[in-house]
Parts: sequence; structure tokens; C-alpha cells
Amino acid sequence: MIRATGLVKKYKTVEALSGLDLTVPEGQVLALLGPNGAGKTTAVRVLATLINPDAGSAEVAGVDVLADPAGVRARIGLSGQYAAVDEHLTGYENLEMVGRLYGFKKARARDRGRELLERFDLADAADRPSKTYSGGMRRRLDLALALVAEPPVLILDEPTTGLDVRSRQQMWQVIRELVSSGATLLLTTQYLEEADRLADDIVVIDHGRAIARGTADELKSQTGGERVEVILTDAGSRDAASRVLAEVSSGEVRTHSDNLRSLTAPVSGGQQALMRVLRGFEDQQIEVLDIGLRRPTLDDVFMSLTGHHAEAAEEADQAGQKSKRSTKAEVPA
Ligand code: ATP
Repeated sequence: MIRATGLVKKYKTVEALSGLDLTVPEGQVLALLGPNGAGKTTAVRVLATLINPDAGSAEVAGVDVLADPAGVRARIGLSGQYAAVDEHLTGYENLEMVGRLYGFKKARARDRGRELLERFDLADAADRPSKTYSGGMRRRLDLALALVAEPPVLILDEPTTGLDVRSRQQMWQVIRELVSSGATLLLTTQYLEEADRLADDIVVIDHGRAIARGTADELKSQTGGERVEVILTDAGSRDAASRVLAEVSSGEVRTHSDNLRSLTAPVSGGQQALMRVLRGFEDQQIEVLDIGLRRPTLDDVFMSLTGHHAEAAEEADQAGQKSKRSTKAEVPA
């Protein structure tokens, strides 16, 4: 339902997209995962026909974005950072207006509006100006607006950025329901957990290009399985702890550059490996504050692919320090 090939978009000196390829089969969810500035919104804008690519091609529901942008717009629902909500209108008025803009008769626009308000848990607030809505309610209304004309393809640009945990979970539930009713969905997100929970497939994007793709499990398995993580009571025992871990580890023992008491070692054999580490620490009288066996997360994947954490990059970007992306980099112990 979505196919993009070799998309390139340049803004003066910045190449926002550098040859991006995407495919989303019918009824599936693809997450475009990456930190701030990775090119996610630019990709969405191209697919939604808001901007033209400098090179490459894209089709949505079989319609070419350059040849027939109006045809594409008739087949997509777009929700996210643009906030289609008119805050001076009530939730109901917003939905009714969009229905009318799609050419619905008054009764149909009204019924569709009421149905969506019900479905998105906004019925109680239907007749309040939407400027009185919470962030989560506003996002749900924005998504409802994208669904008025029942488009076969949905594009959600960072649907939960800035929401609190409860609103985010509520949004995930809504999105899951949409998917189970057969929608095809492209979702952009900076949240690894969001991609993990919602997507069939994930494309990890950084600097305008895909740096990895696969299911969450496939991406996680690229990092090489389980690892033992240790926080030592005393940084002075780091070398001794590192030697014990090296005997058990299946790879390189690493330490965090900003916390010398923290060590990580890839292992195979799970619980037994953990026991061997514990026995080694006991023999050497190495004290730990915390020790555990951890399965890789998508953040580990991001780290191993790019050398920086997705969320560290986000924090650095928010602080206006785009060049300092590796603040939490791990280094060999
Ligand atoms: P965010 O999560 O912040 O929305 P993103 O992954 O969506 O990030 P984009 O908004 O696509 O990233 O931006 C990709 C790059 O292109 C960034 O370096 C950004 O500064 C740049 N960029 C995007 N739009 C423009 C524009 N209109 N003019 C100049 N540069 C732009």
C-alpha cells in the first residue's frame, strides 16, 4: 500500500532524505524509527504530497505521489505534528466540518462525527471548545479527524510525542484497534517501545537513510542476544570485575563512559552465565550494587548501529547540541 524508492530531499546544505526506500504491505504497520532530525517528517511530507522529493518515486495505494497528488490525498489519513484541530471549534464541530469538507451531506457528517467521538472516548467532551482539551484528547481528536473519510492508508507522524504515559497507552490502544480493523499504517516515532509494541516491521532511519530494517525481534537479535549488566559498589574493582566478566562473556566487555561502575558483557547461556559471574565476583570479593541478565532492547540496536542512543540524541538535540550525539556512548572496558 506504500512503496517509496530512492527518496532524496535536500534543504540547502542539509540532505533530509538520502535515498530512502520503504514498503508497507496492506494491513501492516511499519514504524519509521529515528531520533530528532533523522528525516521522518520529511518522508511523511513526501508520501502525503505536501512536498516533492528531489529524486526518487513513491506510490500510495497504487497512486503515484507526483503524478496524482490529489488521488493520494483522497486515500490517506494524516495525523500528527500538524494538529489539524481548530481549537476554537468543539470536538464535534471539528469532525463535522471535516466531513463537510469531504463533501458529506449534513446528516452523514454529523453521524460520522458522533461515531468517532464515541470511539475515541471524547463523547463527554464533544461540545467543549477543543482548546480546553488535554494534550492526549487533542491528539485523539486529530487522529479522529484523519479517519473521517475512512482512508485505506494512515500516516501517523509521531502520534505520542510529548504525551504522558497514560495518554500514550490510550493512544496505543486506539492505534491497535485501527490496525485490527484492517488499516495499513505508517508510523513515525522516536520511541523504541512504541515501534516495538505497534509495528510489524521497523525501519531504523538516521541522517535520511535506512540503517536497518526488520521485525523488532530480528533487530534485537542483531545485537547478539543476552547480556549481563553490573553496577559495582566501588569503581576501584572495575578491572577485576572486567576480568571475571571477560572469562564468561561471549564478546567484548564494555563500560559506560559516564559511569565507571557500570559494566556490560554479552553472554550466551543466560542464567548459568550470570551464576558464573556471581561466583567469580564472590571469589574475588567484588561487591555489586546491582547485577542482572538483560535482553537487548531496540535502544541497544540503535546504539550498535549508530554509536549513539536514540534518546540521547533526542536530549542533545533538544538542548541545541546536535553535534554531541554520543554523550552516553559505551566504550570497551
Ligand atoms: P523530528 O522528530 O524533529 O520531527 P525528523 O526525523 O522528522 O525529526 P525532519 O523534520 O524530517 O526530521 O528533518 C530532517 C532534516 O532536515 C533536519 O536536519 C531538519 O533540520 C532539516 N529540515 C527539515 N525541514 C526543513 C526545511 N523546511 N528547511 C530546512 N531544513 C529542513
